[in-house]
Amino acid sequence: METQPFWLEESRPVVAARDLDRVEIAVIGAGITGCACAGVLARAGKRVRVYDARGIGEGASGRNGGFALRGAAARYDVARETYGVDAARELWQRTEHALDRLEAIAGDAFRRTGSLRLAADVEERVEIQGEYETLREDGFAVEWREDLAHLRSDFRGAIFHPRDGAVQPAAFVQHLADLAVEAGAAFAEHRPIQSLEEVEAEQIVIATDGSGRGLLPELDEALWPARGQVLATAPVADRLFECPHYARHGFDYWQQLRNGRIVLGGFRDFSILTEMTDDEMTTEPIQEALDVFLVELLGQMPEVTHRWAGIFGLTQDLLPLVGPVPGHDGVWVAAGYSGHGNVLGLLCGELVADALLGHDESLLQLFSPARLVQHV
Ligand SMILES: Cc1cc2nc3c(=O)[nH]c(=O)nc-3n(C[C@H](O)[C@H](O)[C@H](O)COP(=O)(O)OP(=O)(O)OC[C@H]3O[C@@H](n4cnc5c(N)ncnc54)[C@H](O)[C@@H]3O)c2cc1C
Repeated sequence: METQPFWLEESRPVVAARDLDRVEIAVIGAGITGCACAGVLARAGKRVRVYDARGIGEGASGRNGGFALRGAAARYDVARETYGVDAARELWQRTEHALDRLEAIAGDAFRRTGSLRLAADVEERVEIQGEYETLREDGFAVEWREDLAHLRSDFRGAIFHPRDGAVQPAAFVQHLADLAVEAGAAFAEHRPIQSLEEVEAEQIVIATDGSGRGLLPELDEALWPARGQVLATAPVADRLFECPHYARHGFDYWQQLRNGRIVLGGFRDFSILTEMTDDEMTTEPIQEALDVFLVELLGQMPEVTHRWAGIFGLTQDLLPLVGPVPGHDGVWVAAGYSGHGNVLGLLCGELVADALLGHDESLLQLFSPARLVQHV
């Protein structure tokens, strides 16, 4: 049984070595966020180096479910109530644009399949109907699905999001890293940063999502690590799922890849306290829950070839932190996508780079770290 993600086996990002003796900007974290950020900065002529304790893309960016969805972690109707109608609409539009860019960058590693958000019970049906109505009201492409005959389990309706897709996340990170290197960025892999003091650069961007604990106590308070567990099966001959599916408020998610493998993750809520950790290991209770659900989905137990875990960053209001860290001159952050970092990581990695370059952006207000980070 492989305990590494299937994605990294298929495509482990590597970049050409480049030497830069002095850099202006250091980025900590070589996932989607850090690579996207470094690309923008290098294209603007900045001398930038990306540090990672592991290899490129070996954090959550190479360990996730491969869903590329518009929006953020909150449902759209809830986002409108919580963040305001205009802010929610702008955020969803910006993630749609980021999805288009993701498609252009990822090439073959992205498929525009749409995604299916399923209601597991009557209560969830009412909730996602609310989301469907508000999305339609605000002019977003969305379809309601009642016919779910392709599924064995009893779901109560679904929203089909036609603009969403599926991405091979490790291959996507490879493309982002290549673009950054082409523009002049350097990478220092297997270089854990213990303290910001040791980084020789005028500006530092923290792009560690849920895994950068210990760098700044204020960020440790605002970004909560959460563990997600996933499995992948051997190729299944029948084509069962044409697009990424998710249910129970996104707690459970699965898709079938081009090669027939099923990638299934979730059930974090079955042991929510133990899963609020940055310990990147699989556990029996969650893996057993995944197995039971796999049998429910397929009607039999297929061969499982990979089981892995990954860590992502959650925030209290389910919005990322992007911008300067209060009380720390020259320190910036882009993190906390609450499980939606494939598209948001691209958007926010670029956004923090733009902010650092002095460009103002309305989204920076919504994502301002000052709303959750107390200056101690
Ligand atoms: C199991 C799982 C399933 C998910 N499914 C999806 C999905 O289907 N769709 C979706 O959009 N999102 C999903 N997510 C979330 C998504 O993967 C992340 O939000 C996204 O990858 C974050 O990218 P990042 O570059 O910000 O962080 P990461 O990819 O986590 O990269 C951070 C990097 O920082 C490095 N680092 C940390 N601390 C230090 C240090 N002190 N010094 C040096 N380096 C350091 C780490 O080694 C790591 O490589 C999932 C996450 C998990 C864990």
